[in-house]
Amino acid sequence: MNENVLREGLLATARSMAASGLNAGTAGNASVRCARGFLITPSGRPYEDCSGDDMALVAMDGSWTGPYAPSSEWRIHRDIFAARPEAGAVLHAHSPFATALACHRRDIPAFHYMIARFGGDSIRCAPYATFGTQDLSASAIAALENRNACLLANHGMLVFGADLRHTLALAIEFETLCEQYWRACQLGTPVVLGPGEMAEVITRFKSYGQAKAANAPDAINPPPSDLD
Ligand code: 13P
Ligand code: ZN
Repeated sequence: MNENVLREGLLATARSMAASGLNAGTAGNASVRCARGFLITPSGRPYEDCSGDDMALVAMDGSWTGPYAPSSEWRIHRDIFAARPEAGAVLHAHSPFATALACHRRDIPAFHYMIARFGGDSIRCAPYATFGTQDLSASAIAALENRNACLLANHGMLVFGADLRHTLALAIEFETLCEQYWRACQLGTPVVLGPGEMAEVITRFKSYGQAKAANAPDAINPPPSDLD
């Protein structure tokens, strides 16, 4: 995709983080893969005051161009793009419920089947490291093994997806799950789904949302099978 289109898409996604309750102020950051490396939100700049041209272009060796320095978390974004070829966009937020859970440094178990949306039967919490450091990036990359989201201890959340739209939608789903887990914990310890139950959900998610009508839109189709 054209780099200018990606710049505008990244800015719109960054602005949507506040609008959807994921971020307040200049916390958090977002990036999108491009031909020359990746575009990332500038460090500490309010997104309402930014234009597409203010998004920093970072090469995989960390060299960058733009009117402002890239997000202090550029290493995490770079390392995800390097380690995970399926990642087209990355988002980091200090969203309220994910951050509250991250401050307890606890993994989120399979209290709800939607945990499988993030690749497995739990969402890990990466051990604490100072923001903006290579140590934090290493900690995050390890917590993301076979997953596309994790918590960052005493910090916030991290998620990646195929493109900006997908990544923002996943981040909103992640924050919703964190809120549901927090609420469920108010009543005691929630019942956790077992490995067999979660394996079945993970299989179903491979085709979830993919099935199309075999016939014209107004034709009557047979009942969906149990696997649709
Ligand atoms: P930046 O403004 O540098 O992206 O930092 C925000 C943040 O969330 C650091 O972890
Ligand atoms: Zn942060």
